[in-house]
Amino acid sequence: MPSTAIIGGSGLYNLEIENAKTVKTETPFGDPSEEILVGKLGGVEAAFLARHGRGHTITPSEINFRANVWALASLGVERVISISAVGGMKEENSPGTLVFPDNFIDNTRSRRKTFYTDGFVGHISLAHPVCPEMRRLLYESGKRQGYDVRDGGTYICIEGPNFSTRAESLVYRSWDVDVIGMTNVPEMNLCREAGMCYATIACVTDYDCWREEDEGVNIDDILRTLRENVSKAISIVADTIGAVAGERSCDCLAVSKMAPLTQLKDIPNNKKSDLEPILRRIIS
Ligand SMILES: [Zn+2]
Repeated sequence: MPSTAIIGGSGLYNLEIENAKTVKTETPFGDPSEEILVGKLGGVEAAFLARHGRGHTITPSEINFRANVWALASLGVERVISISAVGGMKEENSPGTLVFPDNFIDNTRSRRKTFYTDGFVGHISLAHPVCPEMRRLLYESGKRQGYDVRDGGTYICIEGPNFSTRAESLVYRSWDVDVIGMTNVPEMNLCREAGMCYATIACVTDYDCWREEDEGVNIDDILRTLRENVSKAISIVADTIGAVAGERSCDCLAVSKMAPLTQLKDIPNNKKSDLEPILRRIIS
């Protein structure tokens, strides 16, 4: 059973995994983005899921986040490393920088963000939504490998698929965000509800549109940066996966267990069976 999963975003649709098998999972929420690759990575069992589908056919708003997280939970995944292309919202977060966010702002509008529905009530704490243990391992590996890395920061998630207007971009800057993307919400919320650790390698491809001097940026530069970022992120994953997959000493699972308000006996039977892979972790 893979204990760790990598979810790849823009530019990362496949991962070299030894003895890779594709697993097709049916979920109560519909189909995940893609069949999940399961095999050995860095000596440990791992899974890989292409968030936008292998042919990049799924827009951020159309990603079935609940199906993705449910499918990973059903395979036994306890930790999720998210690799995500983002825009840099501060001068120092220039293209090519890897940011390891420790917080999020949700500015999405039309997404199913929770497993708590239909007779099952709970409130997950998102005060500190990123696994500190995993985040530290990933950041330190990036630093060790000589990449331009940022320890912490806030990721604002917008609905997309359009990029921000300049006016919006300036508002977000006034909120002191570090990077902007379209996919980590509600992926991180759902992972947390499901008792999984979550951490993101946010790979900066461009400066969004707040920077006056960036009018002339060309698509070839952005694509080259995207490719280089993906190879850095893969190298960090390969370097850390063994340590990441070790015994958890963080409190991510404990936080998930504090969320449910409805007792097991009061959860409707259909909901109980739909959420079985998740309930067995978060309700003792
Ligand atoms: Zn954790």
